[in-house]
Amino acid sequence: MKLKIFLIISIIVLAGIFWMTWPDGKARVIFCDVGQGDGVLVMQNNFEMLIDTGPENMKMVQCLEKHLPFWDKTIEAVVLTHSDSDHSGGLKQIRSYYKINEQNAYSWSLHKGDALKYGSIVYEVLSPSEDWGNENDNSTVGVLKVKNLSFLLMADVTSNVEQKLVWRKELYKVDVLKVSHHGSAEATSQELLDAVNPAEAIISVGKNNRFGHPTKVVLDRLNQAGIKIWRTDEQGEREFDL
Ligand SMILES: [Zn+2]
Repeated sequence: MKLKIFLIISIIVLAGIFWMTWPDGKARVIFCDVGQGDGVLVMQNNFEMLIDTGPENMKMVQCLEKHLPFWDKTIEAVVLTHSDSDHSGGLKQIRSYYKINEQNAYSWSLHKGDALKYGSIVYEVLSPSEDWGNENDNSTVGVLKVKNLSFLLMADVTSNVEQKLVWRKELYKVDVLKVSHHGSAEATSQELLDAVNPAEAIISVGKNNRFGHPTKVVLDRLNQAGIKIWRTDEQGEREFDL
């Protein structure tokens, strides 16, 4: 009798836990606080996509543990914008906690015109379309569209790439800009801001980093354009629930 009651209570508790952690159908875009680096989690129902993984400091794993239900240990797609350790260094640690669907782990193989789609999530690649001869400019630039919000993710490209995209008229207005290269002075040109006119700019950056990111010139440019700034070093992760 006691065992029966114990079993019934256990089942009710377990059902309750599953019910509480069951996905609500909303799509989420989370700019994780990964310190100095980039790491974006895009999720809806049981689908999770990462765009970069942060450095090897466990911060991306912590972000995943915070947002994924405890029983979901599979990540469906990973985009690594380039091989710098502040963007891809966390992958190894993530792999020891989560299974990544191998066929969807993209390692710098995406080019202009490629797109990934799941439900109301679309990631369209704008760059590279050519070899720039250096890692940062060859990094993957893409627009993430989730329901009616759009995010331009600039990875670490310099204004050389920005200008080419502007000249070719391949940029358009977006709601949110993930500022290139952690706010480096070599990117986020006025031409780019004029072309994409975002309401908000996210700077993914580590506290007191040795590069002096984000730079004053970029912060001034964003402020002057009236763009709301979110800094992960000061405000932590930025979550959009859609
Ligand atoms: Zn970087």
